[in-house]
Amino acid sequence: MKAAIDIAEKHQTPFGAVLAMGDEIFVEAANQTRQLHDPTAHAEVMAIRKLGEHLQKTDLSGFTLYTTCEPCPMCTSATIWAKVGTIVYGTDIPTITKFMPQISLRAQDICDQSFTDIEIVHGFMGKECTQLLRKYG
Ligand SMILES: [Zn+2]
Repeated sequence: MKAAIDIAEKHQTPFGAVLAMGDEIFVEAANQTRQLHDPTAHAEVMAIRKLGEHLQKTDLSGFTLYTTCEPCPMCTSATIWAKVGTIVYGTDIPTITKFMPQISLRAQDICDQSFTDIEIVHGFMGKECTQLLRKYG
């Protein structure tokens, strides 16, 4: 999660994401919607794209997604399609909503409706991640 916070800081955004296998970080990404003029360029989607490109495959089973903010419905769905095993997030959607508009649909609720069994770790380093929202939100 420290790496996800660092990449967010580097890009001056509250949103950073990392895909790791065990202790090994494979890719890191930040939200780049403004720079790329792409509303889908959320940190989590960017990380999934990078890792797919790197590994030349769409099945990211066994990877853990660390993300500073709870993934939105688009990113949660992308995570499901990529078969990522675990999501670890910092700040939750109700907290993010205090800083900017969000779609009020929780990652857990989306995963519960999906075909895979994704483990979600809620609020990991939440205080540090919320600090990013105060700074760049
Ligand atoms: Zn998203």
